[in-house]
Amino acid sequence: MNDTSLPQPVPCSQCQAGKMHLHYITYFTWLGEELISVPNFPAWICDVCNRREYDERAISWLTMLLSPSAGRPTRTGHRPPAPPKPTGVRPAQEP
Ligand SMILES: [Zn+2]
Repeated sequence: MNDTSLPQPVPCSQCQAGKMHLHYITYFTWLGEELISVPNFPAWICDVCNRREYDERAISWLTMLLSPSAGRPTRTGHRPPAPPKPTGVRPAQEP
C-alpha cells in the first residue's frame, strides 16, 4: 500500500530519535505591527524533542496571502477559474 492521502510521520532531523507528526496549530506571525493568528495551520512536531517545522506549502501560501503584491496580475500567472455556468436551464421546446 502506498497511501499518500494521509501524511506519514517523518524522522526528526534534530534528535534522530523521534518522529515528526502533522499537527494543526494556531500559527502566529507579524503583519507589519499587527500580530495575526492563523488557526488550523499545519505543522510537523517531533514527539520527542518537540522540534517544530511548518509545512512548506502552507508557509508559501501564507506568505502569498500576506504579501502586499498578492493578486498582482502577471502575464504568466494562473487565470482564475471561469464562473460556473447555470445548470438546469433548457431551451423551451416546441410542442
Ligand atoms: Zn526530535
